[in-house]
Amino acid sequence: MSFYPPQRTLMGPGPSDVYPRVSEALSRPTIGHLDPEFIRLMDETKQMLQYAFQTENQLTLPISAPGSAGMEACFVNLIEAGDSVIIMQNGVFGTRMRENVMRIGAEPIMVEDPWGQAVDLNKAHDAITQHPAAKAIAFVHAETSTGVKSDAAALCAMAADAGMLSIVDTVTGLGGIEVAVDAWRADAVYSGTQKCLSCVPGLSPVTFSPRAQQVISKRSSPVQSWFLDMNLIMGYWGEGSQRSYHHTAPVNALYGLHEALSILQEEGLQHSWARHQHNHRALKAGLQAMGLNLLVEPDARLPQLNAVSIPDNLDEALVRRQLLQDFNLEIGAGLGQLAGKIWRIGLMGCSSNPANVRLCIAALEACLLNQDVSIDAGAALAAVNRFYSA
Ligand SMILES: *Cc1c(COP(=O)(O)O)cnc(C)c1O
Repeated sequence: MSFYPPQRTLMGPGPSDVYPRVSEALSRPTIGHLDPEFIRLMDETKQMLQYAFQTENQLTLPISAPGSAGMEACFVNLIEAGDSVIIMQNGVFGTRMRENVMRIGAEPIMVEDPWGQAVDLNKAHDAITQHPAAKAIAFVHAETSTGVKSDAAALCAMAADAGMLSIVDTVTGLGGIEVAVDAWRADAVYSGTQKCLSCVPGLSPVTFSPRAQQVISKRSSPVQSWFLDMNLIMGYWGEGSQRSYHHTAPVNALYGLHEALSILQEEGLQHSWARHQHNHRALKAGLQAMGLNLLVEPDARLPQLNAVSIPDNLDEALVRRQLLQDFNLEIGAGLGQLAGKIWRIGLMGCSSNPANVRLCIAALEACLLNQDVSIDAGAALAAVNRFYSA
């Protein structure tokens, strides 16, 4: 009666392939979530998250739930009914930020940019000027729905200079591109484990600045979510040995995260970012040799999420089905207004490697040839090989 999943190569918008070392760590013996040895693992995990986020924020920990819960934790802790929040939207995840703000009883001030483009800094500046009473400005650093990177340093600086909090979604950013929480002066930043950390899904690293921590402790109303109330979570994840039961930590999942963060630290942040960039450029060389273009302008491209414009007259769903059936390869479809218009090819974490790039390019070529697209058979893979040997 056991369930055995197929062995796929995951090159979609997440989850990414999991490091074998992480899979092995998950199967280690479960111990109590208040065991002194487990507390040691929690402390080390916090330190390694501080390294990954490049922050000295004390309030840095993994929420015991996926990235969406990290998002919700940031909003419900910092925002109260009656507050207003500027949301810079340029893809799917801005919509969810809006939902969070509305459910709190706060007012979202939506500032929209076209999907496929970075958040417009001038529009952000104007919104801050027009809404000086807004409590926070929220945006997505790495928009997984479009493959776009926005200028988090500039946006957080604008917020800080205006006395507003910044809330940053870097679920897809962490480990793949630079995330510099302290240098940015960011206030609340959340991520996920199943993207560039190549850990299993289900945890959400978050970090709050001392300023954000003060806002949380001075709230006029209790946080509407009991589970995500950081004041309560700190009773378990806080400093010292006086940890009290809040919820049963996902013990084995945290072994996995600890292992994934160890791998990141062994590789080094800079090396990890450079690797993501290098494999992205190899993929791009192969795509271009097949006549396929990236949706996003070079300056705003995420190396870990490649949005590929789909040529006309192609059955794009058939391509994805064939990739899965014949090559055990998963890539992502477009979402929302980009559905049917782009594929999303992820090169995240340990999925970002030359073998995956070669597999994806060769398999994609086979699928295009299958639909009689006129391309030179073998040219795309040759372009990738040329890139890697250059
Ligand atoms: C994946 C993702 C999320 C949501 O994370 P889940 O783990 O699926 O809940 C949020 N924001 C962005 C930008 C993402 O890519």
